[in-house]
Amino acid sequence: MKKDTIKLAILGSTGSIGQQVLDIVKNFPDRFSVTGLAGGNNTGLLMSQIKQFQPKLVYSVQKFNIPGNTKLCSMEEMASHPEVDIVVVATSGKNGLTPTIEAIKTGKKVALSNKEVLVMAGAIVMADAKLHKASIIPVDSEHSALFQCLQGEPVKAAKLILTASGGPLFRNAPATLNSVTVDEALKHPTWKMGKKVTIDSATLMNKGLEVIEASWLFSMPFSKIEIVIHPQSVIHSLVEFVDGSLKAQLSVPDMRFAIQYALSYPERLANRNLPRLDLPKLNSLTFEKIDYSMFPCLQLALEAGRKGGTYPATLCAADEIAVELFLENRIDFTQIPEIIERTLSLHQSIDNPTLDEILEADNWARNTSLKILSKVNS
Ligand code: MG
Repeated sequence: MKKDTIKLAILGSTGSIGQQVLDIVKNFPDRFSVTGLAGGNNTGLLMSQIKQFQPKLVYSVQKFNIPGNTKLCSMEEMASHPEVDIVVVATSGKNGLTPTIEAIKTGKKVALSNKEVLVMAGAIVMADAKLHKASIIPVDSEHSALFQCLQGEPVKAAKLILTASGGPLFRNAPATLNSVTVDEALKHPTWKMGKKVTIDSATLMNKGLEVIEASWLFSMPFSKIEIVIHPQSVIHSLVEFVDGSLKAQLSVPDMRFAIQYALSYPERLANRNLPRLDLPKLNSLTFEKIDYSMFPCLQLALEAGRKGGTYPATLCAADEIAVELFLENRIDFTQIPEIIERTLSLHQSIDNPTLDEILEADNWARNTSLKILSKVNS
């Protein structure tokens, strides 16, 4: 390992984003090196990543014999390790929350892909980041676009406009949605992503979580964040300024753009492996108004975000369970919002929650949504 490289800890290295982070690392071996890898259930892939990148620290969900000088540790230890410069949080669901907070407490740069971290605990995470002078650079494509558009702008934006492809089921008639299969819901038209986020894209829960995430990252009220349908996923988001000017960020829909920018920020790196946009070939970029009544998950997310307290954590947990159940063919596609809605309606929210109260709400919501399932099925 070279001394002057920027040392990364990659949480969720075997997931879709994690693998693409390692792809960028391979493109710039003189600039980035890997100090820590935290993987999920794909032990085979984690093993080959360990062999290739020789990290000092490893976290694994599954127990296995790790080779050489590598040390097993928790994700929290890895995220706060003195030899780590940037922590890439590419886990999904609530797993990234406590490691992100540990990274922030040690003043590290966090490249954040796991949107639930800010949705569940935005107030705590942003306050801790300010206190410990840690920077949070978004990896989500929409938020990376907004972050890039806001560079060099001394006056606060008037409006943030998140683009949404509409996901794989946007053109489906509502009456057909209960018979949607897992395979159909996983066929995203423009992005290749992990399963959880792809189903969240189909329900548009993902866009709701992104609105909450954007409101924390850029301290914008919900009333100043809009969503526009943009099926081509070429414009990743837009910022409107007080004078009515719009700035947008465009690229081929490929997550490596947002990942590389988060790692190299504030610099930009020349990378010939990233595909270029061929504008004449694009022919046209289109936009549509979103019909909120078609997407109950989006409405639930926005409502939970506006209410605050422990509602957003409850929303995330119920959604994780509901999506898992759908992926296991145990519920219909249209039962995803049903389970989330019923869980939220039973929740007693706590205002200005502590981290423990947030984790308690998460736990409660997981148990409650499973109880609701057994009632639905009985
Ligand atoms: Mg996104």
